[in-house]
Amino acid sequence: MTYVCMKCGKEFNELPPDMTCTYCGYKIIMKKSPPIARKVKAE
Ligand SMILES: [Zn+2]
Repeated sequence: MTYVCMKCGKEFNELPPDMTCTYCGYKIIMKKSPPIARKVKAE
């Protein structure tokens, strides 16, 4: 799972301690969904 800081945009492989960005100190870290290539059949 990848997490991304909502302020500086740095990405983390794990949720930082206290959900605080270790780069800028911002406290809103969001999960970043990995790009999933979904094939949708249109029938
Ligand atoms: Zn940050």
